[in-house]
Amino acid sequence: MSPKFNPAQLNLQAFAAMSGHLDGRCDRATDGAEIDKTFARLAAESCVPHGLAHVTWHAQAELRDAVGAEPQVWVHLDVSAALPMICQRCMTPALVDVSSQHWFRFVADEATAEVEDDTSDEDVLVLTPRYDLLALVEDELLMSVPLVPMHENCPVPVLTQVADKDFVDEPVERVHPFADLKLKMQSSEG
Ligand SMILES: [Zn+2]
Repeated sequence: MSPKFNPAQLNLQAFAAMSGHLDGRCDRATDGAEIDKTFARLAAESCVPHGLAHVTWHAQAELRDAVGAEPQVWVHLDVSAALPMICQRCMTPALVDVSSQHWFRFVADEATAEVEDDTSDEDVLVLTPRYDLLALVEDELLMSVPLVPMHENCPVPVLTQVADKDFVDEPVERVHPFADLKLKMQSSEG
């Protein structure tokens, strides 16, 4: 019998020692408002109230030998979520897929984590006895939220073509930017 692991208070050392896997999904359709409680910071990024549709994650842990040290805990995390955000092309809500896949290595203390994080491809974190894996899932998703969210295909007509047409139609004289500045200064003086 494998022990039951609680992702919010995970004994990572034991989890890694048995090469544990954990899958989770929090879905508004089945779990209701629970998703807003469990992932409150991510839910706050939604452009509509109670919009975060689901959070899905898969964690896989292992112990790896380390040179001159105890074997280290490594965790691979694969996370995804569906979050309504305002599309920056058509300015209507878009259900944006947010996802991330990452390796994490766990070390004994903050000082080691800071030094080794800078020189490692994987993220280096501090091992705590009861690790909150759900908070890490949420951190990962928050860092993966796009800065400029967009629909793949906008559901409404977008006006960029009109703007482009105006731009092309207008006779443009090539003026050196500083010459332009000089002209502007003269016109504001006069
Ligand atoms: Zn759009």
